Amino acid sequence: MNNTSDAIIIGGGIIGCATGYYLTKKGFKVNLLERAYLTAGSTGRCIGGIRQQFSTPLSIKVAMESMKKFGTMRDELKQDVEFHQGGYLFLAHSEEKKQTYMKLIEIQREMGIDVSFIGLSEIERLVPGIDPTGLLGGAYCPTDAQANPFLIVDGYAKAIKERGNVFPYKDVTQINVQKEKVVSVTTRDNETYFAPVVINAAGPFARDIAQMVDIDIQVYPERHEAMITEQMERFFDMMVVDYRPDGCYFNQKWPHGSVIGCYTPIPNVPGYDLGTSFEFAREMGRRMARLIPRLGNTKIIRHWSGSYEMTPDGNPILDKSDVDGFWIVGGMCGHGFMLGPEIGWLAAEYITEGKAPYDITEFALHRDFTGKEVMK
Ligand SMILES: Cc1cc2nc3c(=O)[nH]c(=O)nc-3n(C[C@H](O)[C@H](O)[C@H](O)COP(=O)(O)OP(=O)(O)OC[C@H]3O[C@@H](n4cnc5c(N)ncnc54)[C@H](O)[C@@H]3O)c2cc1C
Repeated sequence: MNNTSDAIIIGGGIIGCATGYYLTKKGFKVNLLERAYLTAGSTGRCIGGIRQQFSTPLSIKVAMESMKKFGTMRDELKQDVEFHQGGYLFLAHSEEKKQTYMKLIEIQREMGIDVSFIGLSEIERLVPGIDPTGLLGGAYCPTDAQANPFLIVDGYAKAIKERGNVFPYKDVTQINVQKEKVVSVTTRDNETYFAPVVINAAGPFARDIAQMVDIDIQVYPERHEAMITEQMERFFDMMVVDYRPDGCYFNQKWPHGSVIGCYTPIPNVPGYDLGTSFEFAREMGRRMARLIPRLGNTKIIRHWSGSYEMTPDGNPILDKSDVDGFWIVGGMCGHGFMLGPEIGWLAAEYITEGKAPYDITEFALHRDFTGKEVMK
């Protein structure tokens, strides 16, 4: 029967698909229900950056393990995912930023990441034409990377379908609970799907889904805009991150050379609106050209927006809930693509084995949310 399975996943982004992939590998039949089409949410709107430079041992570990999984994905999913290790460079334009990066580098190196603080001449070698004004150096990890979210979701979905199903245009409107245990979900077109496990992987909509079982979770959407330029010869390899309040981050897509990037708006833009602004297009062009003046003549060919799914402390939520069988895997805070493979694996292990393979209490649903991930 197509409408019964071992687990139902709500959401066809990187988190739902990675979780479904690893559950399938553990022998589960998965039915994945997506309100629109795969990648319709944040995943298809992200810029594809993958890094390991985080600030806490747990986030660093998850990012490192995820990187390993990206590295073997081509063979696992039996298709190219445009994975390319061109690095990430966090620029320091102030002594304070430099000190922050140097401290984090100590923790990251202790955990085995090839990262160092590099000086101006090295930066100018790596990013030809960068404007060195005010630049004190940068935190550089050459093994950080990029990949194509569409190809990865597609690869995961194909694997899920080998045992279960991926249903697009299935909008979950109700989660049915009997004796404090999930039993099924109902979709807008009045279909019911049965499973003893239901996983909320609805990204920016995770809070709405949790409310269907009367649980309030701290995941709040924030709008982020992004853009891509015409293709050009590749002349730098890494994601260049300028975390000044009026900074931005961008890289050149592998293999075609378009520049793709965004910036974090100040003040932030809470809510579900996915509109775009002329201000972003103008500012993004200005900010990129300030860093690398030769980009000033480049044409922006597309501009869009998507949601970051924020939690108050900048860490994900990966946990079971007080309703038996109902799991939450969300609140990726703008890092869901890069963390997705390991988060999916962790979720599948936790669900099938009854405990997480390593300590992830920092991702617990009921935690003190006052900590902060610095490398947001
Ligand atoms: C501009 C931008 C740039 C980004 N850049 C990066 C980056 O470089 N690196 C990185 O790691 N991350 C990046 N991110 C963040 C990343 O995109 C997200 O963290 C990640 O995609 C979250 O994945 P998800 O699967 O949790 O959510 P989503 O991809 O949003 O998937 C959730 C899915 O659930 C579906 N859904 C919702 N409600 C229902 C329902 N009732 N029934 C059925 N389905 C439902 C939605 O349609 C959606 O497809 C970026 C985000 C944005 C917006």
